[in-house]
Amino acid sequence: MEVASSNDYRQKIPIEGITWELLNRMVTEKKTLEPGIGGDGRVHYPFAEGVLGPEADTRAWIDDMVGLGILRAYSTMEIVMCPTHLRADPIVQLECANCKNRSMRNTSLVEHIHCGFIGDDGRFKKDGVLQCPNCKRPIASADDLRVSGVWYECPNCLSKASSPRTVFVCREEKHDFSTDDLVLTPVNSYTVVESMISVVKSRLVLYPSLADMLKTLGFDVSYPASVKGRSGVNHSLDMYGRKDGGDIALQIAVDSKPVEATAVMSFFSKTFDIKPKFAILITIPSASEGAKQINPGYDIALVEDLDGSGAVQKVRALLLKE
Ligand SMILES: [Zn+2]
Ligand SMILES: [Zn+2]
Ligand SMILES: [Zn+2]
Repeated sequence: MEVASSNDYRQKIPIEGITWELLNRMVTEKKTLEPGIGGDGRVHYPFAEGVLGPEADTRAWIDDMVGLGILRAYSTMEIVMCPTHLRADPIVQLECANCKNRSMRNTSLVEHIHCGFIGDDGRFKKDGVLQCPNCKRPIASADDLRVSGVWYECPNCLSKASSPRTVFVCREEKHDFSTDDLVLTPVNSYTVVESMISVVKSRLVLYPSLADMLKTLGFDVSYPASVKGRSGVNHSLDMYGRKDGGDIALQIAVDSKPVEATAVMSFFSKTFDIKPKFAILITIPSASEGAKQINPGYDIALVEDLDGSGAVQKVRALLLKE
């Protein structure tokens, strides 16, 4: 697949192998790469690791794809990590500031709307019936009470606090760390960039159907193809069909705007050396004026198609005309 100028990154995507498999699955299964915390306390991308393997390989792949502009991070969350072991799965506990006990209990503070009394919700229960401990009126409905806050109580020293101390227990060596020394690490979710989705989709549909059509015309088809030119140099092409009496070289250029002249020149640098009978450049959505202007001298047939869906028929018609 050949593309011009700013979108050169698309040439770097193989149409085989695990990169293709993963991008293909992300597009067709409408998946994004969502982080999760594994049993080892590290951040994982399970869907990607299912295709790419170990975490380190997956992370390197994600970085590559972001660098090429194929994936983008679309949401970031800061997660708490142990400063020593960089594990992201600490146990969170609440600690009594007074006696360090970690069995804090939370109770709701409830207000009796009728008399304004505020107390623990437990105090409104007497002998199995709900009644106000202050004015002794029975509580007839939930509307009589209003929750006015939450308190934490230490069952050991009975001290109360509205916000007890938060402590983290790292699962490695079971050591503590506090909000003062934790490490906050940004963790991203990733999605395939919009323009790549159309590239992937057109490849998914276009390549196999082009190959099938060429086979019915008697070509022995391979894609992607590596073809030796007269100079002895091997050239990579999107598709190549061999047939007695005339080979065909095919290149597919996809862009978000009309495909530029560089795609024609790049294809010509290969067909000039290979000299197939047919050289066809499929341009999606169209060929730019510049591409059309330089083309006549290059003996390349330009096929324009808005989204690739009509390209197979157009190539077929072109070949049958010969
Ligand atoms: Zn730790
Ligand atoms: Zn206490
Ligand atoms: Zn009352």
